[in-house]
Amino acid sequence: MPDAKYSESIDSEVLDQIAELAAETDQQRLWPNAQLRQLAEAGVSRWDIPEHYGGTPTEPTQMSRMFLDVSAACLTTSFVFSQRNAAVQRIVAAGNEELKARLLPGLASGECWATVGISHLSTSRQHLGTPSVTARSEGEGFVLNGFVPWVTGVRHADVLVTGGTLDDGRQVLVAIPSETEGLRYGTTAEMLALTASATGNLNLDNVFVDPWQVVAGPVEQVMKSGGGGTGSLTTSVIATGVAVRAVRALLEEASSRSDLEPEARQFEQECDRLVADIMATETGEPGPGDQCTPQSIRTRANSLVLRAAQAYLTAAKGSGFVSGHLAERTIRESMFFLVWSCPAPVAQTALREFACTPSWSV
Ligand SMILES: Cc1cc2nc3c(=O)[nH]c(=O)nc-3n(C[C@H](O)[C@H](O)[C@H](O)COP(=O)(O)OP(=O)(O)OC[C@H]3O[C@@H](n4cnc5c(N)ncnc54)[C@H](O)[C@@H]3O)c2cc1C
Repeated sequence: MPDAKYSESIDSEVLDQIAELAAETDQQRLWPNAQLRQLAEAGVSRWDIPEHYGGTPTEPTQMSRMFLDVSAACLTTSFVFSQRNAAVQRIVAAGNEELKARLLPGLASGECWATVGISHLSTSRQHLGTPSVTARSEGEGFVLNGFVPWVTGVRHADVLVTGGTLDDGRQVLVAIPSETEGLRYGTTAEMLALTASATGNLNLDNVFVDPWQVVAGPVEQVMKSGGGGTGSLTTSVIATGVAVRAVRALLEEASSRSDLEPEARQFEQECDRLVADIMATETGEPGPGDQCTPQSIRTRANSLVLRAAQAYLTAAKGSGFVSGHLAERTIRESMFFLVWSCPAPVAQTALREFACTPSWSV
């Protein structure tokens, strides 16, 4: 159960209810409807949207603390919400007033749900010679064709933020309502974890995009404009939230088993340092003696969540290996951060960590 350590972001009762639904959500592969409704009722869908579109401003780090707490409670909920937020963030950052006036009020109230299908512009299919989605100008708009390989909540979203590459290499980011002609939905994937996130793919067959739908571009490397993106601080916060869950559970085991105590405390300290550095990085304060960049933070978060989940499973023994145990879910979920929005240098560091010879074996 989440304690109040990092919580001040949303009501602890809401967090408890989200945590209670987490196991069933994972086991039954259920879209986290009730949890998302609770977040909307807590006002979270309004956060960081300008007030004149129905939003509310947030304190610095408020969003990160929410993601930390909700990830500790239920990764499916926080991940799905993060994909919605990535879409909202891009729309808020857009210079297109009509786009914002049409979409932001519904997104703020929670009546409208959005998601992103943008990995083919940054991390997915980059080794293939041709763009996964092409875009060409037509009149004042664009026509998009191709395959969007990853879209979380693909059939639950009212609006998809995605993009394509023009002949000259520039990219355009657009918002496409779900009922648009030419969208062909694929199947959702059965995955190691997060099957409940209803992640699937999508084909775009001559999808026409009006000028009001343009979120950014055409510009080179459109994902580098407008904030967020691959390996953003939010992705590290979510990984750290799952690590917090593992460390809390390990501490709980250690409370009656003194042999677990030293390592549990060591993990607790590492976790506290990482959370402090994330918050300091977000507010622009220098970390304590550490050169914190989003990439170094993500590297640490990935390493911590993997090690902490394994430590918790080790402590939970065979019982923790049984499907439905918190340790079993946590270990599957910890793997997600190796593949989700993971910048190449972070993946490379992880490979080095896996390949290194432990000091006790030489
Ligand atoms: C649960 C889940 C949810 C996600 N949700 C979203 C979402 O909502 N929106 C979104 O935009 N993205 C999403 N992603 C995508 C994610 O952020 C990454 O982009 C994705 O995991 C990259 O994996 P890929 O298999 O597409 O990579 P690719 O790079 O396309 O790799 C595919 C395969 O190609 C081969 N390969 C890779 N690199 C090379 C190379 N250099 N040379 C030769 N062969 C190579 C490998 O065999 C690899 O298995 C999601 C991912 C997951 C797992």
